[in-house]
Amino acid sequence: MTNDDILLVDDDPGSIQLMGRILSGVANLRFATSGEDALRLAGASVPDLMLLDTEMPGLSGFETCRALKADPALTDVPVIFVTSHGEPAFEVSGFELGAADFIAKPVSAPLLLARVKTQLRVKHMADQLRHIATMDVLTGVANRRRFDEALELEWQRRLRSGDPLSLLMIDVDHFKLFNDRYGHPAGDACLRSVAQALRGTSARPADLVARYGGEEFAILLPHTACDGAEHVAHCVLGAIEALAIGHEGSSTAPHVTVSVGIGCYDEDAGGAPQPGQSRNGSDLRPCRFPIDLVKAADEALYAAKNNGRAQARLLDVANVDAPHLARDIAPRG
Ligand code: GH3
Ligand code: MG
Ligand code: MG
Ligand code: MG
Repeated sequence: MTNDDILLVDDDPGSIQLMGRILSGVANLRFATSGEDALRLAGASVPDLMLLDTEMPGLSGFETCRALKADPALTDVPVIFVTSHGEPAFEVSGFELGAADFIAKPVSAPLLLARVKTQLRVKHMADQLRHIATMDVLTGVANRRRFDEALELEWQRRLRSGDPLSLLMIDVDHFKLFNDRYGHPAGDACLRSVAQALRGTSARPADLVARYGGEEFAILLPHTACDGAEHVAHCVLGAIEALAIGHEGSSTAPHVTVSVGIGCYDEDAGGAPQPGQSRNGSDLRPCRFPIDLVKAADEALYAAKNNGRAQARLLDVANVDAPHLARDIAPRG
């Protein structure tokens, strides 16, 4: 059996039992007897495939599929409709909604197995391509494309949940001088080591380490307030120091160092205004876009650079465009 996860959705428990028996050796199976439950289960853990009854009370199969495809986190889940409607127009409507395939009721075991295995194969190939398309070739961490997508996704999630969101921008200090002194292949190896070290600093599965460009990296920290981001920044500074990569050309330290800018969106800290608002009627401009988080981190990064490098600074998103408000991070607790 593979690690694949299939969500079986049908309001008729008998149908679920039948499909469950047929597919028991193929994948891990989860069950839902309504569209609402299916969306909840899929949201909690994204399945590799969904088998979706078209006829259900409450949300129909088509409505469930529409909701699934509208959710950026779930839109890539392949859906096979299971239906007693065989009319071409019905199937066409399903494909237009984004269905991967149809299976007729009553279900034929060999056909169900064949179609499910085909969809899982296609899903694996799509996953592999997506992985290649979203990975930075030099360092193996997420690339810029993946970072941009994750930032947008987490920003939307944050708007719904009100959870804090933090971003670290990390820039290698005096890296041009490193290349000049040791050569570009050594520079590349240095970037690989830095990326590897950064990977070790963020513990949660939702954290994303990415190469933002050149010798700049980003760490996106969902559900993380300023204090958590400051903790990760300490870990980053410590991890790069611990690499102890010699850098004789640096005026900052005898080894490679990084500077870190933290952008932080934390409503509970009274920091960031709601979309379209400015805080307390002040003339701060509204912070409506994920790019504001990048700008805040960037401005904090330049404050860290100007203050002597090899350190971290933090700027609340509410103070974007006011880099003089970037502050030191709290001492390591
Ligand atoms: P600062 O401390 O102000 O950040 O100085 P810096 O020299 O690091 O900054 P600058 O932007 O002047 O130089 C960045 C250097 O990073 C120049 C560029 O050649 C190098 N770089 C960017 N991408 C790569 C890469 O993929 N491999 C190597 N070896 N070097 C790279
Ligand atoms: Mg039904
Ligand atoms: Mg740079
Ligand atoms: Mg640099």
